[in-house]
This record gives sequence, C-alpha cells and structure tokens, in this order.
Amino acid sequence: MTDCIFCKIVEGKVPATKVYEDELTVAFRDASPASPIHILIVPRKHIATLNDVSNEDAILSHMGRVAKKIAQQMGVADSGYRFFINVNRGGGQVVFHLHAHLVSGHDLGSVFLKMAVFAAIMWRKLVNTFKRNKY
Ligand code: AMP
Repeated sequence: MTDCIFCKIVEGKVPATKVYEDELTVAFRDASPASPIHILIVPRKHIATLNDVSNEDAILSHMGRVAKKIAQQMGVADSGYRFFINVNRGGGQVVFHLHAHLVSGHDLGSVFLKMAVFAAIMWRKLVNTFKRNKY
C-alpha cells in the first residue's frame, strides 16, 4: 500500500531498527518505546487490522512464534513480556497495518504495584488535609 508507513519500512524505503526478518514478517524497534524493549512485529503483507485477517491466514500464529523467538534472543522469554495487538481506533490502533507489540524490560508488575502504593499515599494525604481543614 503506497501510503502506509509500515509497508515503507518493510520495503526498506523508510529506515527502522530491524531486529528480525523472515519471509512473512519484519520486526523492528518502536520509534516511541514504552519500555526498554518495545518491538513491533509486522506482516510483510498489508493487512489493515486484526479484523481483516482471513480465517485461512496463518499470520497470527506465525507472529506469536516470532515474538517468542525475539524474546528468547533478547533474554526476556523467562522473565516475561507482553504481546498484544491494538485493534481499530477504540482499541488504540494508530497505524493501520497489522502489528503486534512485544514489550518488556521493566518489571511491569512492580511498576503497577509502586503506582498503586503511591496513589494510596497521596489519597491518604488528601483525606488528612480535608479532615484538618474541616471542609
Ligand atoms: P498502535 O497504536 O498499535 O497502532 O501502534 C503503532 C506504533 O507504531 C506506536 O507505538 C508508534 O510509536 C509506532 N511507530 C509509528 N511510526 C513508526 C516508525 N516509523 N518506526 C517505528 N515505530 C513507529
């Protein structure tokens, strides 16, 4: 597809930091990483969204196997990673060429735990301030 940024990356017309390629997929680092490891796994064939994958197409299972391989190569297969696909605007999809995100590098569980503890402390402070000022 002429106007698709991921098609251009697949064709080598737009630069990207590629980490893996095979006959069906190309994987490269996300330009705005959400984590130290943030890889996009993209089919060579232009498919707009997950909804457009035909029942006969084995691309999704292939993308899963590629994610597993990259996670192993990057040493996070055992510690853990997230693998997800955003679908359409309501699902957070911005680029309309099917892609899976592989995200790892932070201890995601501990980040959420720290955020929850921080929120609880701030909430307590807020409640105490309201009590002191008798609002
Ligand atoms: P999504 O929200 O699932 O459509 O994700 C699209 C992702 O593509 C975002 O995380 C962007 O940072 C990433 N992205 C967009 N353009 C590029 C690019 N030229 N090279 C690498 N990543 C990109």
